[in-house]
Amino acid sequence: MAATSTLSPYLHFGQISPVTIALHVQAATAGSAEDRAAFLEELIMRRELAVNYVYYNPDYDRFAGLPAWARRTLAEHAADRRSPIYARADLVAARTHDPYWNAAMVEMRDTGFMHNHMRMYWGKKILEWSASPEIAFETALWLNNRYFLDGRDPNTYAGVGWIFGLHDRAWFERPIFGKVRYMAASGLERKCDIRAYVDKVAQTGCTGTGK
Ligand SMILES: Cc1cc2nc3c(=O)[nH]c(=O)nc-3n(C[C@H](O)[C@H](O)[C@H](O)COP(=O)(O)OP(=O)(O)OC[C@H]3O[C@@H](n4cnc5c(N)ncnc54)[C@H](O)[C@@H]3O)c2cc1C
Repeated sequence: MAATSTLSPYLHFGQISPVTIALHVQAATAGSAEDRAAFLEELIMRRELAVNYVYYNPDYDRFAGLPAWARRTLAEHAADRRSPIYARADLVAARTHDPYWNAAMVEMRDTGFMHNHMRMYWGKKILEWSASPEIAFETALWLNNRYFLDGRDPNTYAGVGWIFGLHDRAWFERPIFGKVRYMAASGLERKCDIRAYVDKVAQTGCTGTGK
């Protein structure tokens, strides 16, 4: 599951330059060429796409900043029944019915970090379990910026926006999400050893309430 550099807090606080990292990766011989190219794609393309988003979009930290197609499809499904709906306090306390989501929230809250794949799942569930997409956006951004060491970064706003369709395309229409991409727990079970992740978070002894 790991396969990640955990460099984002250091990049966020300017303790290392992306140019230094990119030059080292280009000169490296370890790992496969595909892995190095994928890493550079994230470090350069995805990161700069985020910088571009906050630089050119005055509403980068608001629901209003999302692409029109995404806001439209979410609005068309705003009245869809949501069950369960969790209050912000329940989310902070990692008190949901979903053990995978709870583990992600505990990791975020108590270590200040979370793997990219879990960030995607974590955010999609906030959209699913909130009374409206606007409330979901505010909640996800608030949690992100309060608990992540790399929070309040351009990547934050692009990452949270992605949950709601930013820098993505329309998918099959479904309740609540409309045409915005959905993620299911079964996807985690298929693509990674999610039970090992839950065990790992439990073993780190993260038990605080995050207050
Ligand atoms: C809901 C959500 C919230 C997010 N919040 C943040 C945040 O607050 N701060 C933050 O820095 N990133 C955020 N991201 C983007 C991404 O998840 C993190 O940058 C990455 O997981 C950081 O871990 P790493 O340094 O080990 O990444 P690695 O996979 O090792 O990648 C190396 C570097 O490439 C860049 N990068 C990788 N993936 C992305 C991406 N999808 N978008 C933009 N740049 C990327 C980052 O600078 C990262 O440090 C968020 C993503 C989502 C879906």
